[in-house]
Amino acid sequence: MGRSHRGSHSDAELTTIRRLKLENQKLKKQMSKLRKQLSRIDIDRYSNLKDILEEQAAEDENFDVKIELEDLKEKWICHGCKEDYLRVIMVPRADGLFYMRRCASCFHKTKLKRYTDEVDGIGTDGQLVKAD
Ligand SMILES: [Zn+2]
Repeated sequence: MGRSHRGSHSDAELTTIRRLKLENQKLKKQMSKLRKQLSRIDIDRYSNLKDILEEQAAEDENFDVKIELEDLKEKWICHGCKEDYLRVIMVPRADGLFYMRRCASCFHKTKLKRYTDEVDGIGTDGQLVKAD
């Protein structure tokens, strides 16, 4: 679904709807996988089931990160071009660690600020920024 569905829903509502749809899809997939597995269960399959559960725990974690990245892309949308989002650029200086946010498309950027643990966003590598 694209941006053409605007009108009756706000952007925040659309984000929520999109997320719920994704979660729903994922749960359905999980359910059918588990159901299939349960229908064939016997002692030999136990380790197989354990693998699936472990695999799914890892998938869940990836999914959460994906959602967080999507949220941050919306939060830090570039007001210069409104097409891309601002990446966090770390700037280590003699007096401490600083950062700015810069758009990878139009190079619109924010002022240099001191980095703290509260800074959120996506780094130049496309991953969540973390303090280290
Ligand atoms: Zn931009």
